[in-house]
Amino acid sequence: MTASRVLVLNSGSSSLKYQLLDMADGSRLAAGLVERIGEESSRLVHEPLTGQGAAGGRRERTGAIPDHRAALRAVSEEMAADGLGIDSPELVAVGHRVVHGGTKFTRPTVIDDAVLEEIRGLVPLAPLHNPANVTGIEVARALRPDLPQVAVFDTAFHSTMPEHVARYAIDAATAEKYSVRRYGFHGTSHAYVSRATAALLGKPVEDVNVIVLHLGNGASASAVRGGVCEETSMGLTPLEGLVMGTRSGDLDPAVVFHLARVGGLSVDEIDSLLNKKSGLLGMCGDNDMREVLRRAGEGDESARLAFASYIHRLKKYIGAYSAVLGRVDAVAFTAGVGENAAQVREAAVDGLAGLGLTLDPEANAVRSAQPRLISPQYARVAVAVVPTDEELEIATQAYALVTQ
Ligand code: AMP
Repeated sequence: MTASRVLVLNSGSSSLKYQLLDMADGSRLAAGLVERIGEESSRLVHEPLTGQGAAGGRRERTGAIPDHRAALRAVSEEMAADGLGIDSPELVAVGHRVVHGGTKFTRPTVIDDAVLEEIRGLVPLAPLHNPANVTGIEVARALRPDLPQVAVFDTAFHSTMPEHVARYAIDAATAEKYSVRRYGFHGTSHAYVSRATAALLGKPVEDVNVIVLHLGNGASASAVRGGVCEETSMGLTPLEGLVMGTRSGDLDPAVVFHLARVGGLSVDEIDSLLNKKSGLLGMCGDNDMREVLRRAGEGDESARLAFASYIHRLKKYIGAYSAVLGRVDAVAFTAGVGENAAQVREAAVDGLAGLGLTLDPEANAVRSAQPRLISPQYARVAVAVVPTDEELEIATQAYALVTQ
């Protein structure tokens, strides 16, 4: 049997998410999460999987896990208890989610000292994310220095955006000096979902134009022509674009000057306001769409307003990306909200028959973990729900790179 396991790590500032996949058949062998790293109340949840679903025997550990190194050791112990240890010769690569690849990294990359240094160099562009990603890489390298560690970048799928789309209309020298341009994020999800949508339609990806709506706590849209990303809604940072759980999305940049000059807020305060206290949360006090829908259903005015703004922005992007693509074959909803909230899908498509979009209400109401069409057969544009799988995409890309 050839070795075919890939460990996928998604390292956050105080968390470490992981999955172990067998790329012989894409099955999942284990998954888990360490949270509140560095606190007294750290928690590790580990779940052995059969490939199809839970194998039973979900385990939990609580108690201080001081740093990411200790977190990965604890994960390794849990996996070893199931005969899936990180020291196993079956493991052929570790795939790391890295948020920002700048303009340098446009494809998955095997990490050496020079690559790691370059990822560190991108910290000013992603101060919240890249440092944690670097830490994850460092601890995995220390544990298995012999194993290829592969960085898969959230920005990479969007690197095909034409220059005139990626550029902001600001002074060219300033933009160049400070690397100010649109990078886009959630790229592994947009890549996976655009391909899976073509598969659902039974067509080669080259023949299909898709608008992907990744609606999670963070949210982004992309216009994908024949498998190649042409535009996406997030920009220099994940703040631009759609109304999100806690982020404002698009606004007049002068809002920032106004808050500084008139409101006396500092840059850090405005950053926090727009990233952490805006969006649905800022407008109505809840960032979870389930709560927003529940409250709106009970007639709560601020929840209704937040929902209406969320949907309005979504429609604007569907319209804009219909114009960008010229011909749209499918609109795909994905991530926590997109996969689960039939009401959001219904409201987003409502009134867009002129763009070829209609829903089959019965199909839209079905709850399922499978990719599925929710538009009627006759519809000019297919509307689909396509569950995203960023871990599988990272593992697929990492495996392809180390076995090529
Ligand atoms: P994600 O970032 O993709 O994990 O998505 C998380 C978000 O999905 C949560 O904040 C919820 O707003 C949303 N969500 C999850 N389940 C549902 C549901 N059944 N209905 C509406 N929204 C949901």
